[in-house]
Amino acid sequence: MSASASQLAQLVLQGQRQPSDLVEEAFQQISLQAHLGALISTVEGAPEQAQLVAKRLRAGVSLPLAGVPVVVKDNLNVKGTRTTCGSRALENYHSPYTATAVQRLIEAGAVVVGKANMDEFAMGSSSENSAFGVVRNPWDHTRVPGGSSGGSAVAVAAGMVPVALGSDTGGSVRQPAAFNGVYGFKPTYGRVSRYGLVAYASSLDQIGPFARSAEDLALLMDVISGPDARDATSLETLPAFRAALTREVRGMKFGLVREALEGGNTPGVRAAVEQICTLLESLGASVAEVGLPTLHYGVAAYYLIATPEASSNLARYDGMVYSHRAAGQTDVNSSMSSSRGAAFGPEVKRRILMGTYALSSGYYDAFYAKAMKVRRLVADDFARAFGHFDALITPTSPFPAFRLGEKTHDPLSMYAADIDTVMVNLAGVPALSIPAGYETLEGRELPVGVQFIAPALGDERLVTIAKAIEDATNKAYLRLAPQN
Ligand code: GLN
Repeated sequence: MSASASQLAQLVLQGQRQPSDLVEEAFQQISLQAHLGALISTVEGAPEQAQLVAKRLRAGVSLPLAGVPVVVKDNLNVKGTRTTCGSRALENYHSPYTATAVQRLIEAGAVVVGKANMDEFAMGSSSENSAFGVVRNPWDHTRVPGGSSGGSAVAVAAGMVPVALGSDTGGSVRQPAAFNGVYGFKPTYGRVSRYGLVAYASSLDQIGPFARSAEDLALLMDVISGPDARDATSLETLPAFRAALTREVRGMKFGLVREALEGGNTPGVRAAVEQICTLLESLGASVAEVGLPTLHYGVAAYYLIATPEASSNLARYDGMVYSHRAAGQTDVNSSMSSSRGAAFGPEVKRRILMGTYALSSGYYDAFYAKAMKVRRLVADDFARAFGHFDALITPTSPFPAFRLGEKTHDPLSMYAADIDTVMVNLAGVPALSIPAGYETLEGRELPVGVQFIAPALGDERLVTIAKAIEDATNKAYLRLAPQN
């Protein structure tokens, strides 16, 4: 399915395609490419949903996503589906309700066809921590798709669906977007309701879209963002993304983050950043270096904030109400500990231990409280930079997709891969990964992403930038992944 969501909806509105045909086509692609492991489940009720969309259209309802098949990460509740979060703990959990962001997609005429594979509870950067098998990168099957929203990114890159939803706590939409050659957007904290998103680290979590065009990105954001009475942290700001598509980058000031270029980036990543800067200048924007010194402490602070929040959020999976319960236990303590012991994978256990440790008496001040101070310094760094620049530029990741198994034995090297993305969540600002070229490694072309960061509530500006680059490059970096 190479058409965009906007094109497909247009065809449906003109009566040239039927919603049920689109759903069938998506199912075909999904089964043809099942070897990629992108989905945990398909949605049985999708054909009926498609019928419902057709009926609403006949009744004259205006639907901006009429009949568009979508995939959502398996930590988003969709009524009538299993929501596993990639974990044995929730293997048999059936959602009794639908997340606000997904509900808004459905109301706009989209049809959810699948629930995407992911790192267990969104903890990871490679989609190798799923209880339901690894996800493979469609550009090179021996490589990871990134994570934790790897399944959503692959579903879009491989043409199973035109758009998908993921969640981004420290880079989980942007980094897999970069590894797969698609757009991945992390909105300002609060612009998309988190109601119905299974919590990992609540002060950092945001839902974000994957797309293959700036127009689709804008369309999706216009549909899913905006206030929601069910999420007290959702902001009142109304979305105005499609209006941003026609603005210019002429006159914009871009800050190229020095610390993100200092070392460790592959030649292909460096070249992509340079090329994008030259392009922006040719469009009448200016680019100058800016310092963001706390970048060096971002990963440490992030993991000392995300894991305490996770250890507290995951306490609810005790086998008593809805998560896996181990058989044969006779008292409550052994029931809880054996249920949790059997249900969680090694990375989730490591995070719970780390988080509990960082919060415990005697260590709280040295770890959690210290990390919170760094979080403030990160926000100050961004505030200073945005005093001079409209948007900042970094690589999305220092390297393209790495090999399956390459970092699984060394958690610290996996965490270090998040260097360019975690600061954004710590500060709550919006950021977009843009497809920006390819790097050939061992005979394989792999996508490279460049990240643009805007000040809080500057989300729409990122769509303007994406569209300007897309037009100026004639969509050169927006190819479907090869199918094999
Ligand atoms: N890689 C980071 C982590 O493992 C970010 C994950 C995410 O954004 N959900 O925590």
